[in-house]
Amino acid sequence: AKSEGRGTYRFFEANMGAQVRERRLLEHDLRHAVARGEMQLVYQPQTDVQSGEMLGFEVLLRWHHPDRGAVSPSLFIPIAEESGAILQIGEWVLREACREAARWATPLSIAVNVSAVQIHSPHFVQLIHEVLFQTGLKPERLEIEITETALIRDPSRAQSILRQLKALGLRIAMDDFGTGYSSLSNLRTYPFDKIKIDRSFIRSVDESEQTKAIVRSVLGLGRGLGLPVLAEGVETTGELEFLISEDCQAAQGYLMGRPEPIERYSEHTMGDGM
Ligand code: C2E
Ligand code: CA
Ligand code: CA
Ligand code: CA
Repeated sequence: AKSEGRGTYRFFEANMGAQVRERRLLEHDLRHAVARGEMQLVYQPQTDVQSGEMLGFEVLLRWHHPDRGAVSPSLFIPIAEESGAILQIGEWVLREACREAARWATPLSIAVNVSAVQIHSPHFVQLIHEVLFQTGLKPERLEIEITETALIRDPSRAQSILRQLKALGLRIAMDDFGTGYSSLSNLRTYPFDKIKIDRSFIRSVDESEQTKAIVRSVLGLGRGLGLPVLAEGVETTGELEFLISEDCQAAQGYLMGRPEPIERYSEHTMGDGM
């Protein structure tokens, strides 16, 4: 039993080493990914639940690693955040997305995810201002998606940054609503313009009365606060019908459209002429 234990320990140790090495490799590759042209943006439709009309897109990052192929953002974003590479990558995302949207013939909006590290970086407000100015994108077409964990580091500073961002004319959405510790008090503390109900709630709406009740109450909360609610991860017509009947404003999910290179949606961005 003793030797078995030692063997297990050694295996665990070797495994840990491999994980740390793996992380370092990814961290290193991430630093060069933008310059090497390995990053790509995909766009996922956000639609008006009642009319079915397209409102805009959420912008999502894809990394095509030369050896590993597609690496999931759920894996590389946390590494980029810890290493600080997210600052450079996030700036690229913002510039690319705003430049792209500024070319469209239609006034669809874009929603860009922003990390805590970016929000709290020294010149974030100035960066947004500069990108809007340089690309000519109207600020009302830009929305920033922030999770509540992005704000808890330094709430009073975060509050002031969000106010400055809003003064530029853009909108701020609270991402993954319902998954944090204090979603309710955060709604009161920060000047959000929209609530995005997390996908985990929508996923089980078909089967669970409990989940239905939760989603209904978030919709009621939004109504009470005068904030539109967008439901994430809508995959079935049953889920969509529920959202329609409960007067949800907006939705996003595979049912309405997958995250795709923008060319796939050109009939929406290029207007009637194309
Ligand atoms: P998120 O912001 O919550 O983005 C929504 C995620 O749900 C995306 O995963 C999207 O592809 C996925 N999704 C959308 N509709 C459906 C659906 O109907 N069913 C299912 N099962 N999934 C759906 P993705 O693209 O893998 O991104 C994962 C996370 O990585 C994002 O979660 C976001 O937190 C982060 N991320 C992605 N791009 C960026 C970025 O440019 N900057 C930052 N800071 N984070 C990003
Ligand atoms: Ca998001
Ligand atoms: Ca989300
Ligand atoms: Ca999320």
